Amino acid sequence: MAYPKRRSYNHRRNRSYFRASRPGAKKNFRGNGKKLDTNLFIKRANGEKVEETFVSGVKFADYNLVDKLKQNIASHGYETPTEIQDKVIPQVLAGKDVIGIANTGTGKTAAFLTTLINKAYLDQNQKALIIVPTRELAEQISQEFRLFAKEMNLTIVTIIGGVNMSRQINNLRSRPCFVAGTPGRLKDLIGRGKLNPSSFQNIVLDEVDRMVDMGFIKDIKYLISLLPKDRQSLFFSATVNEKTQEILRGFVNDPVTVSAKHQDTLNNIDQDIVKITNRGAKIDILRKLLNQPGFDKVLVFGRTKWSMEKLARSLVESGIRATAIHGNKSQNQRQRALQQFKDNRLQVLTATDVASRGLDIEGVTHVINYDAPESYDDYVHRIGRTGRMGKKGFALTFVE
Ligand code: AMP
Repeated sequence: MAYPKRRSYNHRRNRSYFRASRPGAKKNFRGNGKKLDTNLFIKRANGEKVEETFVSGVKFADYNLVDKLKQNIASHGYETPTEIQDKVIPQVLAGKDVIGIANTGTGKTAAFLTTLINKAYLDQNQKALIIVPTRELAEQISQEFRLFAKEMNLTIVTIIGGVNMSRQINNLRSRPCFVAGTPGRLKDLIGRGKLNPSSFQNIVLDEVDRMVDMGFIKDIKYLISLLPKDRQSLFFSATVNEKTQEILRGFVNDPVTVSAKHQDTLNNIDQDIVKITNRGAKIDILRKLLNQPGFDKVLVFGRTKWSMEKLARSLVESGIRATAIHGNKSQNQRQRALQQFKDNRLQVLTATDVASRGLDIEGVTHVINYDAPESYDDYVHRIGRTGRMGKKGFALTFVE
């Protein structure tokens, strides 16, 4: 196959943009440097028509939740709980600490939000702190909270890095009953005496495996050490390894462990590789793919912030609606890019692993791993952006 000659890209103009990470930013986890077996990236989705395999025997309407919350859940379009919700919600309502083993895309956000909103609505003294690895995830959780807690007189404040701190400090003055944030900024504000962790009786650690990967383990342990002893603790992670166990030990008390079947998401996704024999032709192969029918909403993953920015720019040069999301963009730029992609105003979003963790975007048709992921865990997280909620998705991994 003959591919057009590669253009040379002028990225010198914005070199300073890529020069350094934000001060204090965590380094991306790079795995052990070994190449993954490419067979891991090949798998047919089971059958043409993909259905959610789990069917709950209950409906949200059956739960012991206040009526207003039930109405909000219904207006949000949820009728039956997903597997993780089915397993977690009764336990949280019973006051238990929970360890939920679940990937993103399984519906775990609603599992903890609905139950904690119910608790805070019934008892105005109850406050919840939700700690997550990325800014996007914190924003997403806050958005979902506002839908579930509509007209219930409950508020949430998002505490994330990369945006103005004084506004967050102001928002905290209004004594919100929910705070969702990333470990670094939470620690900062606690250090400044603007946030008091001992006033939260409900704590959620979400995507703990990722927080550990991102180097947040010390921060999390520190935050846990400041929490009140008497609390309800919810822990969510796709995997539990030695390091996550370390966090668990100091966090939960007599917990119930539940898991949603891991493979469910992957079974919905047709996975294949694209052999790259000539590295220079990589971008042309990507362009060809993007011009094929059906590649309507495509997430492209790569290793570095710089290369993903460059890739998005060169796609735009060739007339493809694309932008990049990565840690060197301001929080506002990241939010804007995400919103455009969500609203189908972009065909392609190029992303690094850290920036994309936990993103909940409807209808992603394809995930393309422009650079192979560093670990299988990263792979699962990347491709989990497509084929969500029982829909079929496609994942292609470029293999050099
Ligand atoms: P999460 O794993 O929390 O990121 O959720 C994944 C996706 O599933 C999101 O788009 C949710 O809006 C959607 N979702 C979660 N629970 C339900 C449910 N019970 N019914 C329908 N959609 C849901």
